[in-house]
Amino acid sequence: MLTGGLMTEERDARHRKDKNPALCPCGASPTVLHISWECDIYQDLRKPISLPIYQNLPTCTKYSAIITADTNLTNQQIIILQESLVSIWQNYIGDFKTGHRSEMSQSKTTDEEKSFDQNGH
Ligand SMILES: [Zn+2]
Repeated sequence: MLTGGLMTEERDARHRKDKNPALCPCGASPTVLHISWECDIYQDLRKPISLPIYQNLPTCTKYSAIITADTNLTNQQIIILQESLVSIWQNYIGDFKTGHRSEMSQSKTTDEEKSFDQNGH
């Protein structure tokens, strides 16, 4: 995280020069900032850092959990921030490595297909 070496489907596809952009199961582009700060899948893990004080942080803090010398965060808020981001990424990496994220995409498609059938179209 500190060195910006986090792997996402988006980064993996870019490294392989894959022409089809990989999507997060939620439908967005799975960038580091999306996983850390936006993705609904990790919303529960992000609750401790959903307070306004965490919303306008410098990019290096949002991206890598690096704290600048002029931060307004207290030590306790910094610990909460770093623990929350680590927790999100531990879950993301676990889901990625076990293929759970692909299953989430497939089950989403299945749900869409079900509603498609239910609507009679
Ligand atoms: Zn997402």
